[in-house]
Amino acid sequence: MRPALDSWSLRDLPGAFLAQELRYVGAVDTNTSPRVRFAPSPTGYFHVGSARTALFNWLFARRNHGTFILRIEDTDEERGREEWVSGILSALAWLGLEYDEGPYRQSERSALHADALTRLWDGGYLYACGCNREEVLERTKGNQTPGYDGHCRELGLAREGRALRFRTPRDGITVVKDVVRGLVEFPHRAMEDFVVSKANGSPLFVLANVVDDIDMGITHVIRGEDLLPSTPKGILLWKALEGSAVELPVFAHLPMLVNEKRQKLSKRRDPVSLEYFSEQGYLPEAFCNYLSLLGWSHPSGKELMTMEEIIQSFSLEDINHSPAFFDVVKLTHMNGEHIRLLDADVFAARSSAWLDTAPVPWARDHFDMDTYRRIAHIVQERVATLAEIIPMVDFFFLESPIYDQAAIESLATNDTTRKIVTMALDIYSRCTWAPDALHEATAAMGNEIALKLSRAQAPVRVAVTGKRVGPPLFESMAILGRERVLARLHAFAALVARTTPE
Ligand code: GLU
Ligand code: ZN
Repeated sequence: MRPALDSWSLRDLPGAFLAQELRYVGAVDTNTSPRVRFAPSPTGYFHVGSARTALFNWLFARRNHGTFILRIEDTDEERGREEWVSGILSALAWLGLEYDEGPYRQSERSALHADALTRLWDGGYLYACGCNREEVLERTKGNQTPGYDGHCRELGLAREGRALRFRTPRDGITVVKDVVRGLVEFPHRAMEDFVVSKANGSPLFVLANVVDDIDMGITHVIRGEDLLPSTPKGILLWKALEGSAVELPVFAHLPMLVNEKRQKLSKRRDPVSLEYFSEQGYLPEAFCNYLSLLGWSHPSGKELMTMEEIIQSFSLEDINHSPAFFDVVKLTHMNGEHIRLLDADVFAARSSAWLDTAPVPWARDHFDMDTYRRIAHIVQERVATLAEIIPMVDFFFLESPIYDQAAIESLATNDTTRKIVTMALDIYSRCTWAPDALHEATAAMGNEIALKLSRAQAPVRVAVTGKRVGPPLFESMAILGRERVLARLHAFAALVARTTPE
């Protein structure tokens, strides 16, 4: 006995009722606290889009004292790769999005899915389809509505060994009430009788997804806009399983992420893997702050925020439906701002821990925390990512600096270079070893040969640090110590002498 599915249209409901219902979405309900889930399929490395979905679910749960559930949708065999599952777990750990329940594995819940299929079959909502792909394509070539043509709908084929399709109502519409997009109507006429389980009995995404949402008591489905088209199918299943009067979850489909050309973010074109961003030394809190702005905005327009501030002001109603530009330049800038928000000690500890994982030998073999603590504040003012620290501080830890070859060559052609190096060796062996004194001594040296300080110190910088630009020179020299600076000037003098300009 099948209730009249065709009467499910929400069109008859008074507009005011719907508007009111939509307004209440996301408000704290003191009776029932929301339950949300992040339901990734382990299909590959963890993508920024998934991170944004996970974050929005987590923020919503934290804001409304709800429960954030992790459910791995691994029913598709190819998707079950264990390393991808652990990739999901480590990505969430890096982002700091701790879950309250799970991780549930959809593949371990097949009894539940099989039971639901039987209930749907017994209720007359499904029929068995014996067609293969080619037959369907052949028959439907010229059709206006794409997809399956309902060929087996009334054939009464036996269930065993066949794919099962949902008997989508011929008339009426399903309306998705979406907090972000308003009411989105899907006329049933344009929807096919979709497959819910394969011939081998395994459930398809849309079925397992809904069955698990029902079982887990999900109140709000917050996910990417790419899943909006499958939502009416989910709603049809939801109502078939729970009765057409069931209270559906609130849907919030998050806007698509695009690159600077307004193209959908793609792993081939754009940097999108979370691993890339953690390897480049983005701070998770900065990354989350930036992600939070991909679709959502603080009512005041404020952008630089702590996680606590974001939680306090987060609401689904403030999510915008237009595509959100994933702007790495802006993310990087924001990362720099978060770096500067850290206490000096915290920065030193966190950045040195990050350096420890970086693929540069000196960071493992020659790193020395006492030195690093003395230079960390200099770096903290200047970098936008932790990766930028590497070339900025390497000369403190290396036996001899990594020379910028172009700088060496241009200095070698310059007569004053030799003069400066000779003078510098002399004054630096005598002057007081402190930033101010070094500054004065270098300026005085410049005066003697009518050079501005910036010109006079240029060869010294290359000799000592290997590069033309870097942290404040005299402070760096003070930290390096007289002996090492003099040794580097000697080595540099020899190098310049050997470098014959063309
Ligand atoms: N597992 C689905 C996916 O990764 C998402 C399901 C959902 O959020 O409803 O695309
Ligand atoms: Zn068929």
